[in-house]
This record gives sequence, structure tokens and C-alpha cells, in this order.
Amino acid sequence: MASSTLRFAQLTFPNSILKTKTNTFFVSKSVLPTPVPNKGKVSNAHAITKLACVNKTTEIAPCNQIIDDVNAKLTPLRIGIIGFGNFGQFIAKGLRRQGHFVLATSRSDYSEYCKQNGMQFFRNMDALCEEQPDVILVCSSILSTENIIRSIPIHKLKPDTIFADVLSVKQFPRNLFLEILPPGFGIVCTHPMFGPESGKNGWNGLPFVFEKVRVTDAGAQAQKCTQFLDIFEQEGCRMVEMTCEEHDRHAAGSQFITHTIGRILSHLNLESTPINTKGYETLLQLTENTVSDSFDLYYGLFMYNVNATEQMDNLDRAFETVKQKLYGRLHDILRKQIVERVPRQGELRTKSTNSLSYLPDGENIKKLASLTIPEINLSEAVTVSSSR
Ligand code: NAP
Repeated sequence: MASSTLRFAQLTFPNSILKTKTNTFFVSKSVLPTPVPNKGKVSNAHAITKLACVNKTTEIAPCNQIIDDVNAKLTPLRIGIIGFGNFGQFIAKGLRRQGHFVLATSRSDYSEYCKQNGMQFFRNMDALCEEQPDVILVCSSILSTENIIRSIPIHKLKPDTIFADVLSVKQFPRNLFLEILPPGFGIVCTHPMFGPESGKNGWNGLPFVFEKVRVTDAGAQAQKCTQFLDIFEQEGCRMVEMTCEEHDRHAAGSQFITHTIGRILSHLNLESTPINTKGYETLLQLTENTVSDSFDLYYGLFMYNVNATEQMDNLDRAFETVKQKLYGRLHDILRKQIVERVPRQGELRTKSTNSLSYLPDGENIKKLASLTIPEINLSEAVTVSSSR
């Protein structure tokens, strides 16, 4: 049996189609590593092992059980979304595209939207939890998440419910879940690194970060977790498994910096010009994308990521360094010009000795000089007598 399984595993790939003489089977990645239970209903892994034997001898022996079981694996998930705003609705569309059921609740009323999009809306969390979804997906703002999670009527849920979130910070919801949820509940922390703007043309190739914080092999939790993550894989996301700590470190140095620059630029009221460069177009786009997210989201990136303050300081220092480089060079040029304008002892100053004639002179130089050094009376400086 073991060698057959091995042969089978070598012959098939995750999410591939396996054809026998009379049947076609969909082979999901999750099927292969599932442990075979000792008793009870035949599991997916067991069914596939049987299928492997069948396949080996090319007999299409009693396959009904196998078909039933493979089909059972594909039962759509019932996913309860908490927080059905901008991002909640966006992610729900992907869940629906993959054939899963969406149940939603939120502070505001989105029942009309849900009705129009084949989703179910519940006016409060009690009603949603009574439906006992397989997965609770938290899509609330970072700032409101703690209150929301603490007010979920956990006792109404199945004891193996999976809790997942999409917050743009990761250590915070992970710690909250670990503190609040009973041990049987699964925990999967995720961050789709895209949103309604960057993912409006599909999710193909976009990074999806996740950490399976706590998923038990007993029962169906592991399989449901895989099925949940498969949604994003099937949508073409680049799946990136990393710890919540790693995520927060990377995100502070990339996403938080991006949002901060976007926010700064938004205060400049930049406008399109007839001579936009590609770089400038990128900045305009960045500004637009950034301000289309709520300020709560940006504030959450700062307050709930321990690495954000350091990045803010880095940004401040980097700006100062650039300013100093510019003004420092200007200072050098001005000094040189001033010194060259002053005839050395015994030398007569002629107009042609000014090698920096491309620089502004007279009043304009005075204005520039005020940027970096105390104002100097240039007319006095050039008429310094040789006796000094
Ligand atoms: P958001 O402003 O971060 O969150 C809006 C959501 O939070 C709405 O569902 C809103 O409910 C709920 N909410 C806000 N304050 C609340 C309160 N005091 N009590 C109860 N609910 C409250 O904007 P978002 O873009 O929709 O983001 C949602 C989550 O997705 C965030 O955690 C964010 O980090 C994450 N995320 C966003 C993006 C993105 O591109 N936008 C990408 C990846 C991850 P109502 O709508 O009912 O008022």
C-alpha cells in the first residue's frame, strides 16, 4: 500500500486532474498528506490510496466511495466575515468566485449589497455565529478589532471553528486570538498584500502572506484550513508563509513607508501637468491609492506595528540627510565664490577672475546665502582693502 501511495504521489501534482478509464478525479494538494484514520468514514487520503492501488492495476474497481469522498472534500466552506467595509466586500467577491458561501456582519447595514451579490447579511454577531460558519474571517479596522473580537459569542460556534484575519499588522491579531480563543479553535493569520485598488484586475501574482498559528490535525480543521488557503492559491496569489514577526518587520519597512510617503505627497496637492514624467505619474498614482484607504487603516499600521516608529525616525533622518547634502553643496559653492571675489593681498581683482559666473549674483546671491550661512554683505567683502 505504501509503495502504491508513493507511486501515486509521484504521478500526480497538487490540483491536478487524474483520469482513469472511466472516471476523472480532481487531486487537491490537501488530499495527499492527510493522515489515514483508523476507523470511521474513509478519509480523502484513504480514498486516494485505494485509488492509487486501483490505478496501478488499471482496474476501475468500486469507485463510488472514492468519488463520494473526493466530492466531500470539495464541499464549499461557509465563511463568516466580520467587518464588511471596503476590504471585507472586496475579499468576499474572491470567496464567492471560488464557490464558497459568504455570511457577513458589520456595524453598518450591508444587507442590500449582500442580497445583490449572493451573500447573507446578519444584523449582529449573535445571528451570524448561530449559523456556525466553518471560518470566521475578521476584516474589521485594526483599531476596532480588539473590541470586536472580545464581543464575539464564541460559545455559539463549533468547537473547531477556524479564526482568520486580514489585518495589515500581524502580531497584534495573533496575540489577541491566542489570548481569547479556546484551544480547539484554529488560528490562521493572513495579510493579502493588495486591496481593492491594486487587486481590481485580479489577484494573479499578488503576494498573500499567512501563518498557520494553530491548526490541529484531528478532525476536519487541517483540511478546512487548506481549503481556505486554497481559495487564494486558486485565485493566483503568490502564497508567502512567514511568521507574524517577520511580516511586521517587512511590512514596516515597505508598506508603512509607502503609505507614509503617499500621505506626505497628498499634502502637496500634486496635480497632473502636460509634461508628466513616468516617475511623477507613479507618485500621482501612489497618492491616489494611499488616500483611498481610510486614515484609520494608516493609523493602525503605525500604532499596532512595533517597528513603525523606527521607520518613521529613519524617514525623518533620511530627509534631513538629503537636505544637508543639497544645502551643504550650496554652502560650499557660495563660500568658494565669496572667497574668490576677495582679492588676495597685493592682487588686483578683475571681473574676469570670477570662474563661477553661472551662479546668480548680487541680490540673488544674498537671498541664497541666507539659506545656509549668516548673511554677509557681499559688496563690503569684495572691496576689502589689501592692508587687511
Ligand atoms: P478600515 O477603515 O481599516 O476598516 C473598515 C472596517 O472596519 C469596516 O468593516 C467597518 O465597519 C469596521 N469598523 C471601523 N470602525 C469600527 C468600529 N468602531 N466598530 C465596529 N466596526 C468598525 O478599512 P478597510 O480597507 O475596509 O480594511 C479592513 C481591514 O482589512 C483592516 O484591518 C485592514 O488592515 C485590512 N486590509 C486592508 C487592505 C486594503 O487595501 N484596504 C488590504 C489588506 C488588508 P462598517 O463598514 O460597518 O462601518
